[in-house]
Amino acid sequence: MQKITVLSGGVGGARFLRGLLHGLRTGLVPGGDATTEVTVVANTADDLWVHGLKVCPDLDTVMYTLGDGIDLERGWGRRDETWHVKEELAAYGVEPTWFGLGDRDVATHLVRTQMLEAGYPLSAVTEALCRRWQPGVRLLPMTDDRVETHVAVPDEGSPSGQRVVHFQEYWVRLRAAVPALAVVPVGLAESAPAPGVLEALTETDVVVLPPSNPVVSLGTVLGVPGVRDALRRSPAPVVGLSPVVGRDHVHGMARQVLTAIGVEVSAGAVARHHGARSGTGTDGVPGVLDAWLVDTRDADEVAGVEAAGIAARAVPLMMTDLDATAAMAVAALDLVGVR
Ligand code: GDP
Ligand code: CA
Repeated sequence: MQKITVLSGGVGGARFLRGLLHGLRTGLVPGGDATTEVTVVANTADDLWVHGLKVCPDLDTVMYTLGDGIDLERGWGRRDETWHVKEELAAYGVEPTWFGLGDRDVATHLVRTQMLEAGYPLSAVTEALCRRWQPGVRLLPMTDDRVETHVAVPDEGSPSGQRVVHFQEYWVRLRAAVPALAVVPVGLAESAPAPGVLEALTETDVVVLPPSNPVVSLGTVLGVPGVRDALRRSPAPVVGLSPVVGRDHVHGMARQVLTAIGVEVSAGAVARHHGARSGTGTDGVPGVLDAWLVDTRDADEVAGVEAAGIAARAVPLMMTDLDATAAMAVAALDLVGVR
């Protein structure tokens, strides 16, 4: 095996990638080693402009995690972070005050914003930022175009009974504590895959969907026009790992956004939502999966996934440490016979 392509959100995807790279470096992954090329296609629909800066939370989480700059306890942002810029902005009374803009992190956003304003596409900016971080993967944004996930939330004061907030506001300010009524990826249908994305899906030995959020992370990557088609015609097998364990998400807000789109919160339902490559997913969209791992405590879901034309197996899916996470990657590759 020479090439692996992984679609990714932020924290869940980055943790999986850390375990995968650990497995490749230490020989835990049969058929792979430190020379195996890993390409990551990351979600950019969480991106936002804040205080004039372009922030790309999922790209940065992957870059910092794999480049050993992450705050491992928080799971996002820089280690040894300080918050003076944020405090000073709050002292000026400028909004938003809820976004966690750390001092070290600000440098990344300054470099990115300057490069974007000079005319470089996000993919080129990401490549430049990765020259410092050396994440050990080729990190591609899903698109160079602006896409933003918005979430409709209840609002008694509004005539429609709801209002729409940016995904980051739903997650960071509202802490996903109110129901998500709808999830709207603004700009997604008009976006184009970033350079290298379609090739990464077709010119590879395997494509992995890690346990990232199936709606607001993988759902948006899969929704970039051309991505689903490339996966459908790729000669490489496509295998996914469930982000839902024991009928809930492990961290984050998969439960809220799955409910918003009318998908049951279970490992099997998420697989059927993505759909078999030989068939269709939810709402008749062309399916993308050949195989799907569920956690051992969801072993009773295996038969229902297989009935949908997707190979399935139950293995431990908790990313508790690097070895456990590498073992998940090994099980995923084994299920599709990739060595
Ligand atoms: P985000 O962009 O930071 O929200 O990160 P991702 O979309 O990449 O991943 C979030 C998803 O990771 C959540 O839906 C979690 O359920 C899932 N997740 C986090 N930790 C684990 C774990 O240890 N095991 C599994 N199976 N899923 C996990
Ligand atoms: Ca995210």
